[in-house]
Amino acid sequence: MRKHIVVFTGAGISAESGIKTFRDSGGLWEEHRIEDVATPEAWQRNQALVLDFYNQRRKQLLDCQPNAAHFAIAKLEATYKVTVITQNVDDLHERAGSTKIIHLHGELRKARSTANPRLIYDIDGWELKQGDTCELGSQLRPHIVWFGELVPMMDTATYITEQADIFIIIGSSLEVYPAASLINHAPHNSTKYLVDPNAKALPYIENLTIKKGKAAHEVPALVEKLLIA
Ligand code: NAD
Repeated sequence: MRKHIVVFTGAGISAESGIKTFRDSGGLWEEHRIEDVATPEAWQRNQALVLDFYNQRRKQLLDCQPNAAHFAIAKLEATYKVTVITQNVDDLHERAGSTKIIHLHGELRKARSTANPRLIYDIDGWELKQGDTCELGSQLRPHIVWFGELVPMMDTATYITEQADIFIIIGSSLEVYPAASLINHAPHNSTKYLVDPNAKALPYIENLTIKKGKAAHEVPALVEKLLIA
């Protein structure tokens, strides 16, 4: 049976594609307060501001391309069963060719109904406006998991992580919960890697190799190693 690699990615993997990270200096959240743009309360208070914030993110995303790290992860599928669990709301893993992707925090290029969360739509272009409605006539909101909301895919992601033979974390500060707790669910005997230029030691995690470097450099090298193993 093919070994199962679970790749857990955060904002850092998309940094070299030109998408700002969350907490790095110069990160996009320095310019906006979370509570003004990424909470259910913000949406209640000022829909136009929230829509504009995500419209600008979406507009930027359309000009960005996957980088060598996204492409390398897609290449792993030649030899391994691969599941990507991402905190990112961009679609760069999809565009690089990965086929099994779980978006824990939603998808920037999708909208969902405020009346029925199961009604999810692709957004054509970059703009979602007030007055754009679902088939029930309710306003569409960004298909994003905001701070303070439940993470619906968390149980699935936890189950998949428990099946990992190899667990690779790329570009995550491991500070946004519950997603950051996934590493605790990887089997003790699984091989684990953490790729992040600012990686902190995780002394309580067994079989962990830390690669302190940028994703577009470190991930292709790691993938080559795994493909010949
Ligand atoms: P984070 O911003 O908290 O952490 C980013 C991590 O990436 C840091 O540890 C940093 O050292 C590392 N990093 C920076 N440049 C890197 C590079 N070139 N290669 C590898 N690592 C690099 O991000 P997080 O842990 O993903 O949590 C942030 C939250 O913000 C997530 O919930 C996510 O949904 C959201 N977010 C998503 C995007 C996106 O979709 N691309 C962008 C920003 C924020």
